[in-house]
Amino acid sequence: MATGGVDTPLMRQYLEIKQRYPDAMLLFRLGDFYELFFEDAVVAAQTLGLTLTSREKHKPEPIPMCGVPHHAAKGYVRKLLDAGFKVAICEQVEDPRLARGLTRREVTEVVTPGVVLDTDHLDAHCNNFLVALHADGGVTAGLAALDLSTFELRLTQLDDTAALLDELARLRPKEVLHDETLGDRLDALRVAVGGVWQSVSPQTPRLAAEGALALLRAQSDAPLDPSALARAGPAIMAAGLALQYAASTQPMRGVPACRTVFYQPADHLQLDEATLVNLEVLSASAERTTHGSLLWVLDRTTTPMGSRLLRQLLARPLRDLAAIRRRQDAVALLVDEPALRQPTREALRAVGDLERLTARAVLEAATPRELSRLGRSLLQLPVLAAALRQAAAHVPARELPELLRWPEDLLADVAEALERSLLEDAPATAREGSIFRPGFRAELDELVQLAEGGRAAIARLEAALRERTGIGSLKVRFNRVVGYYIEVTKANLRHVPQDFQRKHSTLNAERFTTPELQDYELRVLGAQDRRNALEQQLFEQLRREVGAQAGRIKAAAARLGWLDVLCALAEVAEANNYCRPVVDDSSTIEIEQGRHPVVERFLPAGQFVPNDLVVDGASGAMLIITGPNMAGKSTVIRQVALISLLAQVGAFVPCRRARLGLVDRIFTRVGASDNLARGESTFMVEMRESAAILRHASARSLVILDEIGRGTSTYDGISIAWAVAEYLHDRVGSRTLFATHYHELCQLAAVRPRVRNYSVAVKEWQGRVVFLHQLVAGPASRSYGIEVARLAGLPPPVIERARQVLAALEGTAPAADLPLHDRLRSPAAVPPLSAPLSAPLSAPLNAAARAERAIVADLSEIITERLTPLEALTLLDGLAARARAGGDATSSAQAPTREFDRPD
Ligand code: ATP
Repeated sequence: MATGGVDTPLMRQYLEIKQRYPDAMLLFRLGDFYELFFEDAVVAAQTLGLTLTSREKHKPEPIPMCGVPHHAAKGYVRKLLDAGFKVAICEQVEDPRLARGLTRREVTEVVTPGVVLDTDHLDAHCNNFLVALHADGGVTAGLAALDLSTFELRLTQLDDTAALLDELARLRPKEVLHDETLGDRLDALRVAVGGVWQSVSPQTPRLAAEGALALLRAQSDAPLDPSALARAGPAIMAAGLALQYAASTQPMRGVPACRTVFYQPADHLQLDEATLVNLEVLSASAERTTHGSLLWVLDRTTTPMGSRLLRQLLARPLRDLAAIRRRQDAVALLVDEPALRQPTREALRAVGDLERLTARAVLEAATPRELSRLGRSLLQLPVLAAALRQAAAHVPARELPELLRWPEDLLADVAEALERSLLEDAPATAREGSIFRPGFRAELDELVQLAEGGRAAIARLEAALRERTGIGSLKVRFNRVVGYYIEVTKANLRHVPQDFQRKHSTLNAERFTTPELQDYELRVLGAQDRRNALEQQLFEQLRREVGAQAGRIKAAAARLGWLDVLCALAEVAEANNYCRPVVDDSSTIEIEQGRHPVVERFLPAGQFVPNDLVVDGASGAMLIITGPNMAGKSTVIRQVALISLLAQVGAFVPCRRARLGLVDRIFTRVGASDNLARGESTFMVEMRESAAILRHASARSLVILDEIGRGTSTYDGISIAWAVAEYLHDRVGSRTLFATHYHELCQLAAVRPRVRNYSVAVKEWQGRVVFLHQLVAGPASRSYGIEVARLAGLPPPVIERARQVLAALEGTAPAADLPLHDRLRSPAAVPPLSAPLSAPLSAPLNAAARAERAIVADLSEIITERLTPLEALTLLDGLAARARAGGDATSSAQAPTREFDRPD
């Protein structure tokens, strides 16, 4: 860094501090501003849109500088975080008025994208994970995910890179910390996973394995399970890295103890990255927003704890029958008992982010306003407990499920301590007093009276001085720099009495003081200062007391999160008419009148056509589903996956009745997407995903294939799809739903015992196709692609021509005995496109006719089986555009409409 012109004590202090935080933007407090210097200033000015100025302008090398007012700093810190920067906040840690020489300054907090504690910077609905990774030398990677704002630390190890990617997709980390052990995999991971990636800073002291373990023990809020520790492998080192990094961001106060959880991805129904995306579980893939996702349908939670928990549950459904049933029992009770659900939800609405507020209390960062919010949230605990207890009495026949039982500890002491002490509208900072209720501390009340009494006395003095001097406009005022003063306008100066002492003058007035005013000033300011100091001290003490109860508050917050999620699931079940599925150990999926939870929400009520479906692992494990485009194939196979997923979350499901055998993983291969960032074509992505499915699927898995092999030529595609289906049927034995346009695949049912054909029905009516969205046994007879193309607005001549080509290809037109491309080439095989033109031809019509002939010529060149579907579409698109252009020429000249120009 260029550090020319640094010879003042202040800049030496700055540099000394900056040197300790080389990779952070240093916000350096100077009076009412945070200033940035040198490169930080240049970069920040650009990122934040600030004016770049300079310090020490007279020196040969002025220092670049920019600043933000301290009261507006939050917004700027947010922007820097969003841009991926770390921000070190350096405060004045002593009162500048009392400092001898240079005011002492220290970095009090480093904010990084993964370690954010200010609730204003956090999304209440999402965890804010810092993930640390450490590999064991082989491919196994240890992963630690730390959310300091909710005290969670989750540890796991992943056996290969694909599993690691999937886990990262579930966690969605804001920041990933790694050391050099990941080796070559780092770049690929970095491209695939969002968030900011940091390598462990070379300045961080090297952590040894024992050091990591000691740190993990010290930072966990309960003793660690030795057997879990023994299996955690490199995850312990990863945890050490995360905790060490977190500690470095809190130089003044240390990191609070966390709830440490060890888990194995295989403990849950595993959803890989592609499946989470394809099924649109947490976000709708098109927009990357919650709207239109499964989460969007389900998230009727009212607290941040509930909302975050719901996300976690959806990304990690269960595999344990007993646990699933426990959740179902709780949801069922809440569905059946609106008298329990409604008051519970009502009370939950008044609860704030208990988890994050408590974390802030522990970190001594909570403001008076936040502590007061925490207190008001705690006041809801007895209300909730009463509702639950009442329900327990009300439902004698049924045991109140454990998840709905209330523990004895309602934290009345903490709630009361806060309620009794803090003002309802407690301020957002602790420095300027007005935090506590009158009567809380006699000593404080006295100071308040003194300060306020002094102010009243000053008002009386002002009136007396006006009377004595006869100056009506005389004022007694206050400002921070000069204190209290008497202000007299220049016009009235001649009336000023002898005993007024001049302080200084302004443009239009002179300012004075008197011994009496000085006396009051001392009393008022002294009392005010002492009041502020006492309030701050009392507040810090209160905050520490609350922080000391963090364990109890966290436990209550976790309960509230569960209550909230269960009520939300019950609410959704009732509002959308879901049912409780039977979940068992079988290999069956039986769904009666099933619906797609998201698609049905986008249709007017009653428009969604429910479907029955049975996938029986023993006799019909593979369903081949054919049907025209737009019929609803994708919808029906996804709805089966979503219903299974929801059932294993413990939620109710959108159908009339369902019996669902447990699933260990859900795999999806859906649609076409290319991953240009990874340098892979559509077909490559498709094959890679298919390969992963064949490698990892088991007899317990549910596999959803929405067309495979489309990204290549037709024959290659059919061959691959056929072979994949056979492999899944013969070797894997998974329950498989395969939607396809390759009608050839329906032949599989003839040669394989456990394949069933289904199709989505359409009706032909007056030569048009009507979509019934009804799943029926047996293969589809036709594909109606041209009909859909017509609906999509392809111009009539192209549609008509496509019908002729299809007829020739299907052999229903002349010359059907020729090889395919020869048939297309042969002018006799396909009747000419245009109907005879009605004479006379106008000039623009001639142009249209020419265009049309050129299109026909090009069409006759096409060798269909050499084209990939994508090429075919592109070609069709081009032809359509040309046909439209030809038509335009016609209409612009208002030529007579020809048969094939008329709207269909
Ligand atoms: P393609 O083969 O072109 O991919 P598809 O057969 O997979 O088509 P979907 O994408 O599942 O068709 O469905 C198309 C549209 O039809 C959906 O967006 C939805 O609006 C409607 N739809 C699908 N299923 C139903 C249903 N059961 N009831 C009502 N509308 C439905």
